[in-house]
Parts: sequence; C-alpha cells; structure tokens
Amino acid sequence: MHELGIARNILDIVQHSVPVDRYPEVKWIRIRIGQLSGIVPDSLDFCFSAIISETDMRQAILKMETVPTVSLCRDCEHQFTVEEFTFTCPSCNSANLELLSGRELEVVDIELVDD
Ligand SMILES: [Zn+2]
Repeated sequence: MHELGIARNILDIVQHSVPVDRYPEVKWIRIRIGQLSGIVPDSLDFCFSAIISETDMRQAILKMETVPTVSLCRDCEHQFTVEEFTFTCPSCNSANLELLSGRELEVVDIELVDD
C-alpha cells in the first residue's frame, strides 16, 4: 500500500507550505500523477482523506491530474503518447526512446479559501 506513504508525503509538503493557523482554509491541493508512477488515484484519495481527517485541514480536497506517458524517439525524433505500455516508436519501430513524461508525482499548487 505505497499510496499511504505518498499521501503522508503530500501532507508533509502542504504542512511545510501553509502556516499552521491557515490549515482550516486549505480548499484543495492539486497534484500531478504520471501514468507510469504506479499510483492508483482512488487509493491515494482514500489514504489522503484518512490521514487529513486527523488534522485541521480535513476539509481539503485532493485534485489529481493524470500526466500521460510521452516518449521521444531518439532515432527519428518522433514524439508520441505511449498507449498501453508499448514502448516502440509508432513511426519507425525503434525501441531507442527517451521518456519525456509519465513518472511525475508532484504537488502543483495549494489553494486557500478566499478572504
Ligand atoms: Zn522513431
């Protein structure tokens, strides 16, 4: 269940970014999850809700954006979105690829309730 560890990391980041007295104002936390990160969004959402329920930011919502897996072919420079984990270039069939995105796991921003 590595989503629990990730949920704790996200909470850590938020707690370091937001002053303690403003925890109740955290409206949402936007994160980006790469398709290759192996994270199950529902599971992460569940874990995050569970751990924030014991904090002053229990009202916060986790907004998850999925980042598609994008590769660049080093042989023909074709850039493409990888579907169903097929790691060959659709243009020239080369397997000499560079991964441009898909492994992300990052907190993009934290929105507080407007004053
Ligand atoms: Zn190619």
